[in-house]
Amino acid sequence: MDVDIEGLEGIVSPYVLKFKGLDVVAMTKPLISKLETMGIDNRAFLKYVSSAIIPSKEKEIISIPTKEGGVTKFYCVLVDGNSTNLVVLADLEADELKPSGDRAQNAFKEIIDRSNVASLVMQNGHIIYANNSFQDLVGYTSKDMIIGKPFIKFISREGRVNFVEACAGFKNSGKENVFTVDSVLTRNQGKRINAIITCGRLYGGGCEDFLWVHVEDVTEKKKLGQKVKELEQRYYEVFNKSLAAMIYLTPRGDIKDCNTFVTEITGYTREEIINHPFTKFVSPSVVDVLIKEFRSLYLEGVKLVGKECELVTKDGNEIIIEYNAQVITRRRHKVGALMMFTDITEKKLLEEELLSKNEEMEKTLWEMAEVKDALEARAGELNRLTERLTVLNEKLNLLSITDGLTEVYNHRYFQERLSEEISRIYRHKEDPVSLLMLDIDDFKKFNDTYGHQCGDMVLKQLARILQDNVRKIDIVSRYGGEEFTVILPKTESRKAYLVAKRICRKVGETPFVLDDSGKTGRVTVSIGVGTFRFGDGDKSDLIRCADDALYKAKAMGKNRVEVWKKED
Ligand code: GH3
Ligand code: MG
Ligand code: MG
Repeated sequence: MDVDIEGLEGIVSPYVLKFKGLDVVAMTKPLISKLETMGIDNRAFLKYVSSAIIPSKEKEIISIPTKEGGVTKFYCVLVDGNSTNLVVLADLEADELKPSGDRAQNAFKEIIDRSNVASLVMQNGHIIYANNSFQDLVGYTSKDMIIGKPFIKFISREGRVNFVEACAGFKNSGKENVFTVDSVLTRNQGKRINAIITCGRLYGGGCEDFLWVHVEDVTEKKKLGQKVKELEQRYYEVFNKSLAAMIYLTPRGDIKDCNTFVTEITGYTREEIINHPFTKFVSPSVVDVLIKEFRSLYLEGVKLVGKECELVTKDGNEIIIEYNAQVITRRRHKVGALMMFTDITEKKLLEEELLSKNEEMEKTLWEMAEVKDALEARAGELNRLTERLTVLNEKLNLLSITDGLTEVYNHRYFQERLSEEISRIYRHKEDPVSLLMLDIDDFKKFNDTYGHQCGDMVLKQLARILQDNVRKIDIVSRYGGEEFTVILPKTESRKAYLVAKRICRKVGETPFVLDDSGKTGRVTVSIGVGTFRFGDGDKSDLIRCADDALYKAKAMGKNRVEVWKKED
């Protein structure tokens, strides 16, 4: 008959009995054979067990007489087995469970010595036993320096009174079995140890002055505690001195904590903020959006960055805040969210103002562009006008130097150009200049015969013949009346004579058209040629010379060319 000992893995006893009322339900094999050697049947055994265990309901030592007349002692422990009872037993008489007094004591000492907890036994305040952990803790190389010494020696001066009072209180109470003192121990080298000392009564010695003592070194713990406190302090400093308003929200959206900035911005006191839902402080128009955003923050873990929403302050003003929020997780659980925000109302107003200023500026710029376009159009017009004016000026200039009837240069221009040519031969001393002076023969008579208008026609055509029979650089002018001049720059006397001869002949051969009917008439011309070089005289000298030659041509019968000679 085996017992199902499920759930009793920790129990090492080989003897287990299971029973219901007065019936044995199961027994372990070692127990069956034990009872057999004892010569006692199961029912009788159960009677011993249940009579002992039922009243105490817990544990008991039972003594069972054996058939040899001896007594076998069992230690019984009742384990709750629902409808059935389960008893675990230990055979106290068994050899293996019955160590000698010395062995037990040594085993106990070994356990204590191996323990990590610094432990000792104290009698009348003196240490009579201390384990290795205690020796290590107080830093002595030998137990001799510990054993026999008053325990108080190891407690630092300021902790002693406290410890003695605690001991006295404990002794007098008589009830409590354990007391704990927060104290400071001094090590061999003087180093101090924060310790929690736990003491309890030991009755084994038969003397109430036996105390067991556990010393727990909490120096590191204390340091850690201090560090945690400092961190907490720093956290609050950062939290409260932060330039951003900070709110710690529960996953439900209630405000768990907030810094002073939040109270300053909203005008609410801490008490009016803490434990209230955040939505209580936002503008009703943004509540839904905000709830949605925080839902996505919690579900998807997306950080909210640079978001904006409107808060309502205690005095009912709406302010705009810009906020960032992120979920706080602890051991992978989302425990809340930290939200940071700044009041950007002023900034927003400025932005709006800037925007409208920008619009205004844009408008002005447009207007300026329009004006610029108009100006450019006007400038174009002006340019065109200037160009026309230049053309007109040139025309005017030409007119001012042109003879109206014959369209060759006029007298004034002739004078100007001749002066220039004279200056030139004075500059370029090798160059000559020639001047032809031409006069129509008997023109008075011609006018009288054909009329003045026909005379004008002749003048025009004669001017054309002159132009056509000289070079481009030569200057044909109407000197006045029916007299013409031709300036021939860089031209020798001989060459000038030939030109004059050609003109003379050409005129003589030309039938001059006198009117629209095709009537023609003939004229001849007399030409005087003058040529000057450097040193021959000035402008009026040359004119006079040519004029003299012309006079000579007239005198010699007209329709001819005469050349002025120096000796003349
Ligand atoms: P000569 O051979 O000596 O030169 O005789 P001439 O008749 O040509 O005499 P002169 O040169 O002194 O006379 C100039 C004449 O030319 C006077 C005038 O009738 C005529 N005449 C001068 N200017 C013009 C003009 O502009 N048009 C016309 N049709 N005749 C003019
Ligand atoms: Mg004349
Ligand atoms: Mg004449």
